[in-house]
Amino acid sequence: MKHETAKSAALFERAEHVIPGGVNSPVRAFKAVGGTPRFITSATGAWLRDADGNDYIDLIGSWGPMIMGHSRPEVVAAVQEAAVKGFSFGTPSTGEVELAEEIVARVEPVDQVRLVSSGTEATMSAIRLARGYTGRAKIVKFAGCYHGHVDALLAQAGSGLATFSLPDTPGVTGAQASDTIVVDYNDAAGLETVFAEHGDEIACVITEASPGNMGVVPPRDGFTNTIRRLTRAHGALMISDEVMTGFRVSAAGWYGYEAESLGYPEGPADLFTFGKVMGGGFPAAAFGGRADVMEHLAPTGPVYQAGTLSGNPVATAAGLTTLKLTTELDVYSHISRAADILRPAVASALEAEGVAHTIQSANSMFSVFFTDHEVINYDDARTQNVERYSAFFNAMLDAGIHMPPSAFEAWFLSYAHTDEILDRIISALPAAAKAAASV
Ligand code: PMP
Repeated sequence: MKHETAKSAALFERAEHVIPGGVNSPVRAFKAVGGTPRFITSATGAWLRDADGNDYIDLIGSWGPMIMGHSRPEVVAAVQEAAVKGFSFGTPSTGEVELAEEIVARVEPVDQVRLVSSGTEATMSAIRLARGYTGRAKIVKFAGCYHGHVDALLAQAGSGLATFSLPDTPGVTGAQASDTIVVDYNDAAGLETVFAEHGDEIACVITEASPGNMGVVPPRDGFTNTIRRLTRAHGALMISDEVMTGFRVSAAGWYGYEAESLGYPEGPADLFTFGKVMGGGFPAAAFGGRADVMEHLAPTGPVYQAGTLSGNPVATAAGLTTLKLTTELDVYSHISRAADILRPAVASALEAEGVAHTIQSANSMFSVFFTDHEVINYDDARTQNVERYSAFFNAMLDAGIHMPPSAFEAWFLSYAHTDEILDRIISALPAAAKAAASV
């Protein structure tokens, strides 16, 4: 069923006059999938309602934060309670201590955290801290890993080989990108080579704990440990970006899952970055790690970092309540089970139509690539048939299921994705698979 979208279309037209491309974050513009972006006016549980009054099952979850579903009553109450006490003080406050304690209690290698307002700020600050701590300039990132729109991290590799990178966007200078070395993800030999050549100039390696921004591409067995071994051997720091995976794939994020499943014979990362779930839908993020590194931050140390709204009392109330609910309600088991139901249903719908696909998971977080081979890095991810994803996306949208408008994203599940909701998603799959097969 095609939805009536006149009101969303009119809002988009107004938006295009006053906001570049009509959106405040590019992927929302539906450029990759076509059609009218839906202007959402309210959301409850697993449902989004748009300006035309259409309802959609949400598989975006605000790109990760809404792990409890939308407008979860306990979170709404915590936000209201915090808001009536004041929006922002610019002084230390109770909620930020409680949220920091919760994070430190969950992620064993994290002794201290500094709260910020976005994932971008978290990774930017962690890199500055790593450079300040080591006195070195170069950083290593992996192709296809996204860490926010930090200048030095908007850089792309040339070919498959590790190269000194060129800026990936106008506005980032050659100088800002020239200290960034890009390596293919899961390429242990490439990383070895980079360290053999530049080991004593490298401040840090930053990696998504388990990448989700090129679709879900988990580390191959041992890759996380290789990063750890090489960074330690060369006196560089390891930064694990858990903005997406943190408090989503387990109570202690990818760290908790991998520590349990594979172990960390080489030890954990030095620094971690968090965002999304820990803010419960409000702007709250964090970076943290070993106390001796974190104490290099002002005011205890010389590395400057600050924020007017950092540790905001309304955001910390939302985040803390969300985190508490995830363990109280065993949300991680719920989401794992939901993913276990959805994955085979997607696979069989696509198989029935002969649509090549690969489903990859980071514990409960998964994505579907429209390609027939395993995806271990960004080059593999880009072999997928994005036209097929667009057809699939639009058929799902017509059926009232709002997926991420990009083929390179995880499908975000929440506690509000009940069996009834999953059944509705599953019943939309055959037509979407057919649409994918037709292009
Ligand atoms: N790191 C990762 C792994 C992310 O997924 C994101 C956001 N998608 C960011 C950093 C940036 O976070 P934000 O959009 O809050 O700046």
